[in-house]
Amino acid sequence: MSITIPGTGVSRGIAIGPVHRLEGGEKEVYETVIPRELIENEVARFRRAVRIARQQLKDIRNSIPETTRADITDFIDTHLLMLEDSMLTAAPVELIRQHQCNAEWALKSQRDALAEVFDEMDDPYLRTRKDDVDHVVSRIQRILMHEESPPPTTDSDLRGAIVVAHDLTPAETALLHHQGVAGFVTESGGPLSHTAILARSLGLPAIIGTHVTPYQIRDGDVVVLDAAEGMLLADIDDATLKNYRRRQRDEIKRQNDLQRIKNKPAVTADGVHIELQANVELRDDVLAARRAAAEGIGLYRTEFLFMNRGDLPDEDEQLQQYLSVVKALKGMPITIRTLDLGADKQCGHEPPSEHISANPALGLRAIRLCLKHAELFRPQLRAILRASAKGPVRMMVPMLSSAHELNEVLELIDDVKQELQRQHLAFDWNMPVGGMIEVPAAALSAGIFARRLDFLSIGTNDLIQYTLAIDRVDDEVTYLYDPLHPAVLRLIKMVIDAGLTHDTPVAMCGEMAGDTRYTRLLLGMGLRELSLHPTSLLEIKHAIQHCRLETLKPVVDDILGTDDPHRIGELVEVLNKM
Ligand code: PEP
Ligand code: MG
Repeated sequence: MSITIPGTGVSRGIAIGPVHRLEGGEKEVYETVIPRELIENEVARFRRAVRIARQQLKDIRNSIPETTRADITDFIDTHLLMLEDSMLTAAPVELIRQHQCNAEWALKSQRDALAEVFDEMDDPYLRTRKDDVDHVVSRIQRILMHEESPPPTTDSDLRGAIVVAHDLTPAETALLHHQGVAGFVTESGGPLSHTAILARSLGLPAIIGTHVTPYQIRDGDVVVLDAAEGMLLADIDDATLKNYRRRQRDEIKRQNDLQRIKNKPAVTADGVHIELQANVELRDDVLAARRAAAEGIGLYRTEFLFMNRGDLPDEDEQLQQYLSVVKALKGMPITIRTLDLGADKQCGHEPPSEHISANPALGLRAIRLCLKHAELFRPQLRAILRASAKGPVRMMVPMLSSAHELNEVLELIDDVKQELQRQHLAFDWNMPVGGMIEVPAAALSAGIFARRLDFLSIGTNDLIQYTLAIDRVDDEVTYLYDPLHPAVLRLIKMVIDAGLTHDTPVAMCGEMAGDTRYTRLLLGMGLRELSLHPTSLLEIKHAIQHCRLETLKPVVDDILGTDDPHRIGELVEVLNKM
């Protein structure tokens, strides 16, 4: 009988492989007194562990191809730099000598002393660096504790493994994917955290909110990760393993079958074309979008360019990045979203502030942060505008909530255009500017935005978070996340209708757009443009090709006309079986 460990599935697919635990610096460390004559041996043991840690990181760094995004390699470079820092290398040696203690204890003491200093600082950049210190310390500790055989961390060791960790950052997730892991399981995080979004976009089976004790599974145990069902199975008997291997093969076959519709248009059975675009976070996603024959990029999340690095990208670097994506798209349209930093997307060097928000998702985030810090925003506006000279670029502003904000943004864009013109720098004067509708206030007053903007895109991840008052990264309230809540559906409908009234195209780019359970409902509500992960694109296209819009309408009207969540669920099922 296998052990079933429940969690929340954040992506699709089944992964089968050996467990690889990433401990995250929380290993129990005990103090041992070292005899005086063995102190220098202990120092040598510590130095050797640092050398091995350095070598491990260099090996990972060297195995990453040149084409991989700079932010992933920067993340490793930061850790390498820390391994050169005397705070982490010389100070523990002093402690070993002074206190005659073991290397693990000296390193832990130094880590705790550094953590105290970091904790006293308000600067969010330094707080991020504290996490980096923990990662590096944890790597050295693991080497010290397994001195006979250092833990596997090279690409070949991780290939095919199912990683179990307390938490993973988006950059770590991207790195693990590159290292060939089969899937991952974390204790914390929510299904709409950016790590979860990345897992979906990378097609990596993953579950979160899973509490796995070392007694349930050990490193090396072969487990099954069923992401669609949100469970991890350990101690699997042969029959179960066989069953999952068959399901894995079926899934691969289904994905291969979907390839047949790749070059067919996304048109419903009654002939209505639905624009299918892709959401992009990493440069590889652009290739994936092209492979899935997306009609363009409907959401390019630029904040990933700002993460895991020690500085901010300047106008030129941003321009080069946007141009490289525009070039890779070979004439396909791209919607570049302006910075959405804040809340769960910290880059570590946000403009300095004395203020610590108790509710970061409601605080100085996205366009609010950008409007307050022109020094951050203007270079990006200039870079996006300049990129528009080279291809069909649109600009999209996240988190708009009021007409006042909208005025400020449009005035600023105008000002930047005039500046570029004075400087004789090329850009497209008519570059479309759109806004994301992800705050209930914006949905309720969607006409204001539809009237003045060239397009709208509904960001359901935030719209649901703010409408239902659920922190999208808090696993304790994940069970309340409900895209079919009548309030959410009504807000979505209001935005679609405002677009129709003002002849302004409305798209959807939140996770809801990439989930086949909602495709018929959304089309029945009037949506004609969806932007989603390239990995789900063919599935959504398949759903589109198999529905008839004219027959959906009466059921969709019933769905929108009821307040009963149970009835809504039933009607959506009816819709999906029609
Ligand atoms: C959204 O909120 O739905 C969205 C697409 O933006 P993000 O997930 O990047 O906040
Ligand atoms: Mg959002």
